[in-house]
Amino acid sequence: MKLQDFGEFKLIDRIRQQVVNGAGVHRGIGDDAAVLSLPDGHHLLTSTDLLIEDVHFRHAWTDCEALGHKAVAVNLSDIAAMGGTPRYLYLGLACPGETDLDDIYAFTKGVLDEAERHNVTLVGGDTCRSPGPWMISVTIEGSAPAAQAIGRDGAQPGDLIMVSGTLGDSALALHLLQGGKTPEAELSGRHHQPTAQVALGRLLGEQRLAKSMIDISDGLASDLAHILQASQVDGFIEEDKLPLSSAFQQHSDTEPGLRELALYGGEDYQLLFTVAPEKAKAVAALGAELKLSITSIGVICEGSGALSLQDKAGAVRPILVRGYDHFCRS
Ligand code: ADP
Ligand code: MG
Repeated sequence: MKLQDFGEFKLIDRIRQQVVNGAGVHRGIGDDAAVLSLPDGHHLLTSTDLLIEDVHFRHAWTDCEALGHKAVAVNLSDIAAMGGTPRYLYLGLACPGETDLDDIYAFTKGVLDEAERHNVTLVGGDTCRSPGPWMISVTIEGSAPAAQAIGRDGAQPGDLIMVSGTLGDSALALHLLQGGKTPEAELSGRHHQPTAQVALGRLLGEQRLAKSMIDISDGLASDLAHILQASQVDGFIEEDKLPLSSAFQQHSDTEPGLRELALYGGEDYQLLFTVAPEKAKAVAALGAELKLSITSIGVICEGSGALSLQDKAGAVRPILVRGYDHFCRS
């Protein structure tokens, strides 16, 4: 059946029936506004992301369920990057009337499964017809104890620069897809169904281990530059230390130019954070507890926002920041 033969209100009602309201939800989907509460002493964290067909995704390359998963995961990642706990989700969805209902169901399944996995409740949204592309707007609300949220501006000289997981896998998958190739499952999974590092972010906040943090959405260099600029410090990283998956390593051994993707590729959704050296052991213990690799890739120095890289040969060069910018082509 087509969406236009089913209708907006039936769709909203179907979504509503699938949602189980979690703690803190006094009124969820179905009224003019959601009525929610936060644990005592917590501050509200909110973040929103747009996903536009043919800008952020292509139906030819991704299935609708993975798309729903990703729409939520990228938002969860923003709350994780503040050291918070994600709680409430809002879904704005616009698609053409001719859209197959099964595609919508698959999409909302991806959204709801990923939300549920993190104890996040879908509490509202908006649904309308699009004259062409799918447009998805996801807003997430989370919370953190007052004064515990981790900003981009807390890095200090002497801090170690750390990153979770591996870098460049998502960008490599996209690069292969754009070249008409089929990426290995390890890579395509990282692109289509990224994992937000929610537990790591929350625990880094709770244990006050990270002084500054960001999630890597635009690429390591670009997102590290945000920390450096916000904190007014310089960063020094070593190419040899960048954590790479075995699939990434194999591709970049055959085609060394691909190594750049670990620095400049986007959509890793790993956490990038800075830590006082005396806390490095506690961070390693946290990584072991979560079964997640955490790698120290460099150090923060005095300065005003510059980033430099020591390459494999030992030469140090400044890194020009060029992450993905929606409006700049160069
Ligand atoms: P309004 O006219 O006030 O926008 P709607 O009829 O659009 O109300 O929405 C009714 C209820 O359904 C509201 O609680 C709204 O938040 C919720 N809702 C609408 N679309 C979605 C969606 N895509 N996902 C989740 N909740 C939705
Ligand atoms: Mg509405």
